[in-house]
Amino acid sequence: MNLAEGDRISALLGTDSGTVVVNSCAVTSEAVRQTRQTIRRARRDNPAARLIVTGCAAEIEREAIAAMPEVDGIIVNEAKLDPRAWNAPATPVSVRRHTRAFIAVQNGCDHACTFCIIPQGRGPSRSLAVRTVLRDIERDLVGGASEVVLTGVDLTSWGHDLPGTARLGNLVAEILRHFPALSRLRLSSLDGIEIDPLLEELIAGEPRVMPHVHLSLQHGHDLILKRMKRRHLHDHARALVHRLRTRRPDIAFGADLIAGFPTEDAGHHAANLGAVDELGLVHAHVFPYSPRPGTPAARMPQVARGLIKDRASELRQEVARVREDWLRRLLGHPLYVLAEADGTGHAGNFARVRLPLGTARGEIVTITPTRIEEGLLA
Ligand code: SF4
Repeated sequence: MNLAEGDRISALLGTDSGTVVVNSCAVTSEAVRQTRQTIRRARRDNPAARLIVTGCAAEIEREAIAAMPEVDGIIVNEAKLDPRAWNAPATPVSVRRHTRAFIAVQNGCDHACTFCIIPQGRGPSRSLAVRTVLRDIERDLVGGASEVVLTGVDLTSWGHDLPGTARLGNLVAEILRHFPALSRLRLSSLDGIEIDPLLEELIAGEPRVMPHVHLSLQHGHDLILKRMKRRHLHDHARALVHRLRTRRPDIAFGADLIAGFPTEDAGHHAANLGAVDELGLVHAHVFPYSPRPGTPAARMPQVARGLIKDRASELRQEVARVREDWLRRLLGHPLYVLAEADGTGHAGNFARVRLPLGTARGEIVTITPTRIEEGLLA
């Protein structure tokens, strides 16, 4: 989301605006700490620039951020993609070129997970109309992108607020129909319980949809999932992964997981660890729980900081182990890799691959890896 929004904002401002924009994050207290650090560094590196902060930290901690001496102004989250907020012309002047285009099709969230501050920062769920999504994709394909990634704060809720009954599966089908030459469409984080039947069908059977699903699981124990006010139980996740893997054996799964949620005991943590192996999670974002003021979980009995850190690192180690096994199984099999700027690229299943010297950025190349080098296939 941040990449997609950052591109839109820099397109609105142009390259020589003399403005530095920090699109801040507030998902954890660590993210807010890094926002402050980024603001200080941006000011040090650009003493004469106009420094504007927008995003969720600027929303949730507005007074504290506005009081920082480095900050010249704040633009509220709601207005940050509106050219008028930046005194910019209505048509963007330039678009940054990426091999992979991040298209934000939805923003905000209608849920109320007990640990989460995001709905306070981004408001209720709003979906982009199909024609706007198609226009954004077209712009990036013309700009040279070879892969499209659909993103959103709660991506699977796309369509709920639009007239009609369209769901994310309908949007994906429409994109594939409208851009027959687009060979790589990827989905960012999905709430498994909200995946509609058509979307599941496309993930399972459509080769142009990349075999890579990132689930916002959060935990592997039902009691903790209930205390988080998630809508799924572990069995749902297990059944979904099983169905998809049966239909598409080369699919790779990733997940967001929280370590040390309030009231988590050793048994709950063991279930969380067990989920990594059971579901075969090879990509993961592990978040050590940190209380966000004003959220229900912040008032629940907390787990000691040290224990949270230890559990997060155990989860990361378990993911690394499962990932290593997976990489080894990929050796000797051809992968279709999209070349990026740094001499590496990602396969459809999002395994990172080192590329032969001279591979042009944006090219899709077939690589049959023979070894693993520093966590990369080569
Ligand atoms: S689904 Fe839950 S975790 Fe995700 S943004 Fe909404 S409230 Fe936050």
